Amino acid sequence: MSNRIRVFKFGGASVKNADGVKNLSSIVEKFNGSPLAIVVSAMGKTTDALEKVVAAHAARSGTAKQLLDGVREAHHQIMDALFENGDPVYDIVNDHFVAAEWILDDEPHPNYDFMYDQLVPTGELVATAIVAAYLNKSGLKTRWVDARDVIITDDIFREGWVQWDETRANVEKRVRPVIEKGEYVLTQGFIGSTKENYTTTLGREGSDYTAAILSYCLDAEDMTIWKDVPGVLTADPRLFDNVTKLDRLSYREAIEMTYYGAKVIHPKTIKPLQNKSIPLYVKSFVNPENDGTFIGPDVEDHYPPMVAIERNQALLNISTRDFSFVAEHHMRYLFNQIAEHRLQVNLMQNTAISFAICVNHIDDRIFRFAESIEKDFKVILDYEGLELITVRHYTPQVIEMLRNGKIVMVEERTKNTIQMVAKEVPLMKRKTELASA
Ligand code: ASP
Ligand code: MG
Repeated sequence: MSNRIRVFKFGGASVKNADGVKNLSSIVEKFNGSPLAIVVSAMGKTTDALEKVVAAHAARSGTAKQLLDGVREAHHQIMDALFENGDPVYDIVNDHFVAAEWILDDEPHPNYDFMYDQLVPTGELVATAIVAAYLNKSGLKTRWVDARDVIITDDIFREGWVQWDETRANVEKRVRPVIEKGEYVLTQGFIGSTKENYTTTLGREGSDYTAAILSYCLDAEDMTIWKDVPGVLTADPRLFDNVTKLDRLSYREAIEMTYYGAKVIHPKTIKPLQNKSIPLYVKSFVNPENDGTFIGPDVEDHYPPMVAIERNQALLNISTRDFSFVAEHHMRYLFNQIAEHRLQVNLMQNTAISFAICVNHIDDRIFRFAESIEKDFKVILDYEGLELITVRHYTPQVIEMLRNGKIVMVEERTKNTIQMVAKEVPLMKRKTELASA
């Protein structure tokens, strides 16, 4: 057996309760002998709950502490089911909650994203403290490593960009030697630190990405994401019947699908793995013996149609106010503004006098963007109930099924992919159409 390090990632669903933590431990035990780095995210819906704490504090609603107490109570229940009274883990977890309370004792920080990154990582910190203590208690020698001493990012809070050189050096210093000594390293997903030691986060669901960063820096043998689904499916089973598991997927397919909204893996995860040809397995933590999905280099393959749906889309129709054509002189300026306002463009289309882009509708970015170009351009915004539907390896039947009951605002087809920006046909309209039929 090879002795290269493997990287495991366990998400919130896998550690949502005490049984989940025990199950995680039994999976690690099955791989006993393999050198492992283990990445764990916050338990269950903790991150959502902590986001509410941040919002309450920012709004000075007076409820932030109470909301934080709810999170603390949930973790206490899990600890009570795993540890004896008086186990040192209680103090460790308590310290993390006290640090969060201190922030709530202060005035809300004027930079919301900064404050978010100082509070929300509490979920990851306490989850990993609990899991590390439990693994050690089960005889699996584990070192808790603070991801903020390893993953270095820039200072764009809530969307930290990894500084690879510093991060790689930290991995060599703080992760590899521990594993080579025969211990497991257990660390937090999703969080990092600026060079000035401020905590940052990598974006929601970013724990997969953390595992990929570590895999890359460690030249890992492989990486496994343990999930509550059997593997990567052809579509979201909450939205579609008849989905099937894919046994094998190329990096390329995985990137295309996750970038456009397939929620199974964080979109940034694949690239670092692809760059070093590190295999990625997506497996079920419920049935860890099953094969799951293997993601690796391209192979000649025939893929079934795969569907990804991204909600919260905005469509921006941009046209010039004078008599010039959009494509004449304006593209560079528009692209600069798009980058400046950090819009993620999912689709674009231009005609002689207008330019349409479909972007993720995040906070008030599209409004600020529209304002910034208002002087020279007319912008029509549409962001009510819009979704982006992406189908790889489409068939006429699948497209027809997806179009049913929808108005398609923009559509783009290439050989392998069709993308549609669509919204539901309003109920009223459907009725009149039927009546006049
Ligand atoms: N706990 C974070 C989230 O829920 C990160 C993650 O789960 O990957 O977004
Ligand atoms: Mg999660």
